[in-house]
Amino acid sequence: GRGIRIEGLVKRYGHGDTAVDALKGVNMHVAPGEVVGLIGPSGSGKSTLLKCLGAVIDPTAGRMTLGDESIFDNGWKVRDLRALRRDKIGFVFQAPYLIPFLNVTDNVALLPMLAGIPNAAARAQALALLTALDIQHRAEAMPSQLSGGEQQRVAIARGLVNRPPVILADEPTAPLDSARAMAVVRILNDMASQFQTAIIVVTHDEKIIPTFKRIYHIRDGVTHEEAGEGRSLS
Ligand code: ADP
Ligand code: ADP
Repeated sequence: GRGIRIEGLVKRYGHGDTAVDALKGVNMHVAPGEVVGLIGPSGSGKSTLLKCLGAVIDPTAGRMTLGDESIFDNGWKVRDLRALRRDKIGFVFQAPYLIPFLNVTDNVALLPMLAGIPNAAARAQALALLTALDIQHRAEAMPSQLSGGEQQRVAIARGLVNRPPVILADEPTAPLDSARAMAVVRILNDMASQFQTAIIVVTHDEKIIPTFKRIYHIRDGVTHEEAGEGRSLS
């Protein structure tokens, strides 16, 4: 695949005098295997960009390509947006949204199960990620029994378990301490290089910003690319 490509993306909310152009022609490219940061002040358009890429809202104009597939070209090219979201895109949201009546393992194993992987194999896949995120001791717990940081790690495992070609992460490390935040960054980088995943991380987290090799700054609906420090993770 060719990762993520966005060209001239425009998103207008509302109409006429009260219209807001949240994205004013955004260009962005994330190669397979790459983890890039997306940084910008509140109201700059970060959520809007992630929602467009995640096929959660409709862009107004522009082009988006995921892998080899043109998914949007001044209109959706994909017939089944639900299948696109389920099979191609891993979401790691700020608020974990775990399913309250499933335990930790089944929250993570649910997506592979729905994709047709046998239950035992799906649970094994879930447990491997939970172990990498150092939360395997909570595998049998219910979401309501977890701290905010623990819930966030479970939500990260869930976003990664299907090995989607694209991962969109919105403040994935916000509630985590330094060691756990760096563990999350390491897992995202490992995922990217092992499975050739293209990953966009929206973040304000000063602990992890120095780890990106490339950063997009967004301001007032326009992106600017810049080289990051790419500081080593070990
Ligand atoms: P960020 O995620 O960087 O805080 P947003 O993408 O949420 O930025 O918002 C970008 C701009 O679009 C802001 O001016 C915001 O008020 C506006 N906006 C976001 N969502 C909507 C909406 N549903 N309707 C109208 N305006 C919106
Ligand atoms: P986030 O935590 O992602 O930055 P916000 O708190 O900015 O989200 O916004 C919460 C929700 O309200 C989002 O779905 C966003 O699209 C919507 N929203 C943001 N700004 C506006 C606005 N000016 N008018 C209507 N909806 C908005």
